[in-house]
Amino acid sequence: MSCHRPESTAVASSTPAGHDHNTLALMQPRAPEPTPKALRNGAPVKANNVAPQGVYLPNYNILTPHMRSPDYVQMSTAAAITLGIVQGKMYRCSCTRCLNLLLTYPEGCRANCAYCGLARHREAERDYADRNFIRVDWPAAPLDIVIDIVARDAAASPFHRMCISMITHPRSDGDTVSVLKRWTDRIDPSTIPVSILSNPTTMTRGDVQRLHELGADIFTVALDAATPEIFDRTRGKGVQSPHAWSKYWDILMDARDVFGPQKFGAHIIVGMGETEHQALTLVQRLVDLGGHSHLFCFFPEKGSLMDHLPATPRDQWRRVQLARYLIDYRGVRVEQMRFDGEGRVIDFGIPRSELDQVIDAGVAFRTSGCPGKFAEDVSACDRPYGDSPPSNIASFPFQPNKTEIGKIRRQLRIVERRH
Ligand code: SF4
Repeated sequence: MSCHRPESTAVASSTPAGHDHNTLALMQPRAPEPTPKALRNGAPVKANNVAPQGVYLPNYNILTPHMRSPDYVQMSTAAAITLGIVQGKMYRCSCTRCLNLLLTYPEGCRANCAYCGLARHREAERDYADRNFIRVDWPAAPLDIVIDIVARDAAASPFHRMCISMITHPRSDGDTVSVLKRWTDRIDPSTIPVSILSNPTTMTRGDVQRLHELGADIFTVALDAATPEIFDRTRGKGVQSPHAWSKYWDILMDARDVFGPQKFGAHIIVGMGETEHQALTLVQRLVDLGGHSHLFCFFPEKGSLMDHLPATPRDQWRRVQLARYLIDYRGVRVEQMRFDGEGRVIDFGIPRSELDQVIDAGVAFRTSGCPGKFAEDVSACDRPYGDSPPSNIASFPFQPNKTEIGKIRRQLRIVERRH
């Protein structure tokens, strides 16, 4: 029996405003408050000038040490657990396959993206190294310690990929080069490939070229917003932030030229006010250019300018996840799909039996990102619970089991066919 929701069926509301998707009108960020002068640019951390001593675990009750890249980097809690520098367990994940290294400075990121826990407007409330980002803390450690641990036996490392995450800071371009050099001096990038999560605002084509020459494998641009309007509202003038859609695309095009097909991509956050059709048109555009898209489900990050807004309803998210997988890995085109008057997917453009197979395989619902060593369509960057709590998983950091596929089907409102 099939009960794929027909076009005319009313949808259940799952946001406070009564929509089953996050609309543009709903997803309006708060305006940033001005920061008192004495708290700007990491002034308290620099004034206290506490010397760092090894690993630093975010703790707002003690003075934050003065740590700077390239000597210090931050990493996700999952990466720190996998590396063995932090004790802890993750729900149904023994490790993460991606070591994401985030550049760190007392001044922090100078941008103000509305959905981001690292944004500049938080200066008054929390030192940079203590800020939550994609729902978790980011411990800091000396880069040399991180490299020492992985270099002991890189081939046997649980990490399938390393990623340098740039931020908006005047030293970010140069320090990304330094981190990459220090890494590749000790670890063969063919053993653990390196991705760059770039910051286009401060970069030139020459920077992109240099990172490629130094052995970076994949270059990604965090567009995050699916349309220029949402970009400007959440990352540009709308929140006193320096980013521009056109500059992001310039660097993305440079990455396409320099890194080549399948070696560049863009991040898209789903549920910030774009329609499903707009998100998937962008996914198609990236595929047509020869790249990939990496999806994130919008989650109201605590302390961000969008922390009062609803997470993306699961049916919206699952439709975009599934459709994006079909476009990225199964050769289906957005033009083959059908959308309703609000831009929601109502037909994925392939026969039902094929769609059932893709859903049952479950890979479409795993975290998307740069590939690891298992398969081209399985991301090394699994970001455990970076866009949802474990109780209601958006991006699965592991292979979903039969029960979870059943739940995904209910979220999609595509119930399994009975033969
Ligand atoms: S540039 Fe990146 S790190 Fe900085 S506020 Fe924006 S999303 Fe966050």
